[in-house]
Amino acid sequence: MTVETTGTNFQVRLAARPEGLPKDSDFQFTEEAIPRPGEGEVLVRNTFLSLDPAMRGWMREGRSYVPPIGIGEVMRGSTVGEVVESRVPDFAPGDTVAGLLGWQRYAVAAAKDLHRLPPGVPPLLALGPLGMTGMTAYFGLLDVGAAKPGETVLVSGAGGAVGSMVGQIARIHGCRAVGIAGTDDKCRWITGELGFDAAINYKTTPDLYEELRHTCPKGVDVFFDNVGGEILNTALRHLAMHARVVICGAISQYNATEPPKGPGNYLALLVQRARMEGFLVFDYRDRFAEAQAAIGRWLAEGKIHHREDVVDGLENAPRGLLRLFDGSNTGKLVVRI
Ligand code: NDP
Repeated sequence: MTVETTGTNFQVRLAARPEGLPKDSDFQFTEEAIPRPGEGEVLVRNTFLSLDPAMRGWMREGRSYVPPIGIGEVMRGSTVGEVVESRVPDFAPGDTVAGLLGWQRYAVAAAKDLHRLPPGVPPLLALGPLGMTGMTAYFGLLDVGAAKPGETVLVSGAGGAVGSMVGQIARIHGCRAVGIAGTDDKCRWITGELGFDAAINYKTTPDLYEELRHTCPKGVDVFFDNVGGEILNTALRHLAMHARVVICGAISQYNATEPPKGPGNYLALLVQRARMEGFLVFDYRDRFAEAQAAIGRWLAEGKIHHREDVVDGLENAPRGLLRLFDGSNTGKLVVRI
């Protein structure tokens, strides 16, 4: 069985490797015939695309955890969508699926590369709390950070997708959660609706060091860092004994045109017998079901709140991506295709 497909496939491709912030000319729009699935494949109409800071890294040449997106290739990205044609028994037209199907309206995928959403699960949850965002927060905080009840968890990028989840999971876990974010609205959201214990606006505070001393009087046991740079460097001066610094990301560095300077305060790791560890959420793939079960339960119990920031239209995805870097997104940034 097939569902009617009309029109063409609209795609956003990488046209050039950006210098600094990506600009319009780094992207190219193409239209071509809707592909047909072969034996063992499924045709999906994408409905939402996740916009992620990591995409900026994928546009860059050089060694990383995945190969760079090639010039002329469709931009890589996580999507949710609807199966329109299936040539495998496991998927049927109308199924809602998630996958890494890229910045395009239609995509053909092998069945093994798709994940079916259980009936009734809102598609956007698969890009937020029950997708990469939630998995990153859960394993970064509880596994890499090994947060324990009673500890102080500090998270940067706290008004964004991952950061807002980290603070909520920390609270559920019996920790004190302190967030650093770039607007008063985000600070109000995380302390009001999300239940963080305190929030600091790093753009308006006259002295982040003093503010952290005040909000984390016993020191920071887990610093979940999404932004790197000066915020990381300052937070290092507040580590408690045996603290864990979780390097989740360093968005302040992603558009840098010069190599970043190392954090000058790194000897705090020695003094406080602390550790700093990076991680990749994909390494936890075998345990995603565990995190999805826990987060699904917390969602059902009303203990986790989430917000999606929606950009309309795939043609607006390139400019939409910039919102991650100017901080104008709150919660999970997605594109409605
Ligand atoms: P967010 O929704 O948090 O959006 C990014 C936010 O970063 C912006 O809203 C902005 O908020 C903040 N920001 C941007 N530039 C700066 C800057 N120069 N200094 C301080 N803050 C800045 O994105 P995600 O939740 O999707 O991702 C958060 C982090 O997690 C990223 O670093 C990403 O790369 C990383 N990540 C890592 C994974 C892993 O496996 N290790 C997996 C998924 C994400 P503000 O208003 O506060 O400035």
